Amino acid sequence: MIRPEFIIEELRKNMPDADLDMVWRAYAFAARCHRGQKRLSGEGYLVHPLEVASMLAKMKLGHVSISAGLLHDTIEDTFATHEEIKQMFGDEVLLLVDGVTKLSLIESSTQEERQAENVRKMILAMSEDIRVILIKLADRLHNMRTLDSLRPVKQKKIAQETLDIYAPLANRLGIGWIKTELENLSFKYIWPSEYREIQKRVAAVEDEREKYVEKIVNEVNEVLEKEGIKADVRGRSKHYFSIFSKMRRQDISFDEVFDLMGVRVITDSDSACYMVLGLIHNLYKPIPGKLKDYIALPKENMYQSLHTAIVGPEGRAVEIQIRSRRMHLISEEGIAAHWRYKEGGSREGKYDDQIVWLRRLMEWQQEIKNPHEFLEYVKIDLFPEEVYVFTPQQEVKPLPRGATPIDFAYAIHTDLGFHCIGAKVNGKIASLRHELKNGDIVDILTSQQQKPSRDWLKYVKTSKARTKIRAFIGQAEKQRALTLGKEALEKELARLDLDPAEYITETKLLPYAQAAGYMSLDSMFIGLGLGKLKIQQFLRKIVPKAAFDKKNKMSLRGVIKKFIVRSPKSPKPSGVRIQDMDDILIKFAHCCDPVPGDAIKGFISRGRGLIVHTADCPNSKNLGLDSERCVDVKWDIKAEGKHLVMILVETEDRPGMLAQISVCISDNGANITDAMIRTDSHKRGSVHVTIEVRNLKHLQSVMNSLMRVKGVISVERVRDRQGVLASRANRMKQ
Ligand code: MN
Repeated sequence: MIRPEFIIEELRKNMPDADLDMVWRAYAFAARCHRGQKRLSGEGYLVHPLEVASMLAKMKLGHVSISAGLLHDTIEDTFATHEEIKQMFGDEVLLLVDGVTKLSLIESSTQEERQAENVRKMILAMSEDIRVILIKLADRLHNMRTLDSLRPVKQKKIAQETLDIYAPLANRLGIGWIKTELENLSFKYIWPSEYREIQKRVAAVEDEREKYVEKIVNEVNEVLEKEGIKADVRGRSKHYFSIFSKMRRQDISFDEVFDLMGVRVITDSDSACYMVLGLIHNLYKPIPGKLKDYIALPKENMYQSLHTAIVGPEGRAVEIQIRSRRMHLISEEGIAAHWRYKEGGSREGKYDDQIVWLRRLMEWQQEIKNPHEFLEYVKIDLFPEEVYVFTPQQEVKPLPRGATPIDFAYAIHTDLGFHCIGAKVNGKIASLRHELKNGDIVDILTSQQQKPSRDWLKYVKTSKARTKIRAFIGQAEKQRALTLGKEALEKELARLDLDPAEYITETKLLPYAQAAGYMSLDSMFIGLGLGKLKIQQFLRKIVPKAAFDKKNKMSLRGVIKKFIVRSPKSPKPSGVRIQDMDDILIKFAHCCDPVPGDAIKGFISRGRGLIVHTADCPNSKNLGLDSERCVDVKWDIKAEGKHLVMILVETEDRPGMLAQISVCISDNGANITDAMIRTDSHKRGSVHVTIEVRNLKHLQSVMNSLMRVKGVISVERVRDRQGVLASRANRMKQ
């Protein structure tokens, strides 16, 4: 078991001003937390955090990372709390430990290969600090080294995950040694027989191969010495997994791969690389098309090198890599080589390097103006434009930043988006506007009644959701336009006193529709509904000119026909005329009880015929706003009927008042159909009488006669008969 002293010593070497006491305290705390816990191998658990911390020390990370490495399993696996870690080690250590703990959520999810890239991005996105990933990689590497104690099924699963997720992450961060070891260990557990085969064959030819490579190394060294170039030349063995994947990728045999021997030249300065290349190409014949200049064009993980292949002695192909010491360090240690400047020590002058590095690393898109700002930004948010969330089945979905459950629903299935009414985010109900965050687990709630609305466009960020919602709204609007267009045409035809059913047929209209550029009647109706096709112009094409000549006279009739149900049998003489129409259903409004002689207005109701109001009826004023439905009507002198009207007679309270009023009314030739009397506290009586009169003149004569009756104080016409009757009905109920 690694002793903590070794870790401390390593740290002291790399970082003389490191807080060694913190690391000691972290060690003691981890030892206490994990006391009594055993790993599956039977070892004490503490071995694991110690190994992880030791790797971090080898990566030359500082006291914060190493302490966090020692503590990385305490929150998840022991009774240690966030508070304790924060109190004892501060915010920065807590952030790292917490970050590593959060990543275990991703680990526990099932992963398919197509998900791997998303999961890698999610890990990067969820790690608010790159050191979290470095600790995670060390953690995984130690777990892979000790995978033997697990059951084979579990071994394969973890190895596959390592190959899909963690080895590429290590590669992305440029940490060559971790990538290589993770790949080889995964290979061993996923394809055990192939692994053994390659191991065996490499061992069998190793001696002969080594001799051959040594020959080349010597020849190259000789030339370089002659030119006075200082460089380290050595044979390079391909690791097992890269042999295996080359065999699979190019479908070639072991011998073909293994024939490709490798030599690496490491120079003291960057500028020497091209000189060395020239000398080697002078010494051996280069194989065309094999030269790659990763110095001028570094890989995205900042890897730099010159790659070439030459024909060596006996005609065997040899791969040669040429790089400087600096480039070599970067290819082996990757981001860790840069990161050490973050924790204490000499910062100045190193920013630019790190910035170039990180920019490439994260496939940064946007231009960064202030390098310092940028570094802070990187620490907080590696993918400012994306968030990664889980489905309930733990599948990872990448979404744009600011995405909502609607985006998520559409990302899964159009139908789910269509009926989405809300979501459970991490088990809690959230609205459709809720902004999703990295690592959220999202479960969409649906209802069959739900439909997309225009409002949704305000909350969505994905183009898929936007397109689908727009399409739906467009479809609904088309449907509405179609109905509107069709109704408008029917109405206009009715206005011209033409039968819509006769006109609106495929045979009659389609030629006109096509002439106007519409392929079908429906699309023509939509054009009419949207106002793209002008209805009057279109009418003139399809309707004989004669119909228009009658239009002015007939238009009212058309409107009325549209709204009014004709009275079914022979029309009763109603006393009202509307131009030359006598076949419509007419009713007198009960709110104002018009009698012939009153100024009146006709109001076309839907399905209840023409309702006649007095011109001063407050009700008719309200309804009259819709001028199209308000028509001028005149009394028909030839056809007077009987009209109910209510009057209010105020009297002194004396006996026989009602009798005298009744006599007066009937003397004037009017019938009483209803009367009610009330007496108030001031000894006044008020009588509401409903009478039948022929016309306004008749009513006025009745009222004038009543005024002359002894004891009558005032007589007035009641404009709100229905209201009065209703309040009486209410009183009787009480
Ligand atoms: Mn661990």
